[in-house]
Amino acid sequence: MYLSKLFLPITKNLPADAKIKSHQLMLRAGMIKQASAGIYSWLPLGLKVMKKIEQIVREEQNKIGAQELLMPTIQSSEIWKESGRYNDYGEEMLRIKDRQGREMLYGPTNEELITDIFRSSIKSYKSLPQMLYHIQWKFRDEIRPRFGVMRCREFFMKDAYSFDLDDTNAKISYNKMFFSYLKTFKRLGLQAIPMAAETGPIGGDLSHEFIILAETGESKIYTDKKIFDIKIEKYNFENTSLEKMVKDFSSVYAVTDDKFNKLEFDKKVSKENQVITKGIEVGHIFYFGDKYSKPLNCFIDSQEGKKNSVKMGSYGIGVSRLVGAIIEAKYEKEIMKWPKSISPYDVVIIPSISKNNKENLSKSLNIYNELKKQNIDVLLDDVDENMSQKFKKHDLIGIPYQIIVGSKSSESKIEFKEVNFESSFVDLKDVKSKLKN
Ligand code: ATP
Ligand code: MG
Repeated sequence: MYLSKLFLPITKNLPADAKIKSHQLMLRAGMIKQASAGIYSWLPLGLKVMKKIEQIVREEQNKIGAQELLMPTIQSSEIWKESGRYNDYGEEMLRIKDRQGREMLYGPTNEELITDIFRSSIKSYKSLPQMLYHIQWKFRDEIRPRFGVMRCREFFMKDAYSFDLDDTNAKISYNKMFFSYLKTFKRLGLQAIPMAAETGPIGGDLSHEFIILAETGESKIYTDKKIFDIKIEKYNFENTSLEKMVKDFSSVYAVTDDKFNKLEFDKKVSKENQVITKGIEVGHIFYFGDKYSKPLNCFIDSQEGKKNSVKMGSYGIGVSRLVGAIIEAKYEKEIMKWPKSISPYDVVIIPSISKNNKENLSKSLNIYNELKKQNIDVLLDDVDENMSQKFKKHDLIGIPYQIIVGSKSSESKIEFKEVNFESSFVDLKDVKSKLKN
């Protein structure tokens, strides 16, 4: 892509409510545009990043055997009346009437709809376990939408649902998801901490929030710093290992505000190990047994011929919130550097161009075509600006690797730079391997 052609409405004008750096950066870099309160259009650069996050989330879900489907955004109120949540959900639910006067709603979550799909097709223990997920827009009429994509009204979420015959098997599904979440966040360049959480309106008895540390986070967290040393590489995908992993994490004190108890904290965690800080919730998993399957009559025939309500869990990841959360975690000293797994482009070529010297631009074009041939997603900054303006812009766009074409690069060696590191001179044919490392 040529930067001159990219739809990238970079702006300096920020609205007064853009208070945190991710919100500011996303607006300044032209990643999003507000459509109305808490509702955003995703512009090409922002969408590209979000799609990459979505794809990593998808791959990790598929790896643990979850299957993707797609449910609609608009739901009928009927199933919500069956579960009893139509009234309970309150004003956060956006309610709509169709032309026949039927009560519809824009889904804030999908427990009811997935249970309805499940109950009409699966009847026997032989078809269990099952894990289904989709990645779809949700709407919650948040009382105070703020912080850009972090707390908005319309947002993009991965929600998965597990179905098992009994508690023991349901815990296995829960543990797989737990593992999958840690791997997902790791691939996104984040260290997410699983924390025991209140189950809230979704209900149930087992729940963890996945939190990344950030000063601007809305969740206050209290933890033993030992939790940062637990490494998921130590565990494998065998049931006993997964069980041990969840146990290891759960045995370290790490809670959010709702579960915090000062006496307990002081008793369980030595003073020097106590960490009190803030974080952003990027994922949340629940096990809630038959909370929905029971009222919705979702039964399974057991091996003994008994009818059991299926045991369910639900598992969310805030895909659109993650774009902001990653910026909060990685944007430092006015420089954004995307983790390479989700960078909008693999590398940017920045030629020094002036009116009477177009030589660097033509050199850059050769490099550009060569990298394209190697299937590298490359951006060429062909805009007629001086180098300092260019670098400022790229501090905002955040591509982690740059090829600088100026007086220093020769025919055979090009100047290659990883953001925040010294540049080096490399052969064009070696660029690809540099991007991989
Ligand atoms: P929160 O406490 O932040 O309101 P929640 O507990 O209501 O989150 P869940 O219902 O568990 O959230 O949703 C799963 C994930 O969806 C959350 O972990 C979060 O990453 C994301 N999410 C929830 N609400 C929003 C929102 N208003 N805007 C953007 N992302 C959201
Ligand atoms: Mg909420």
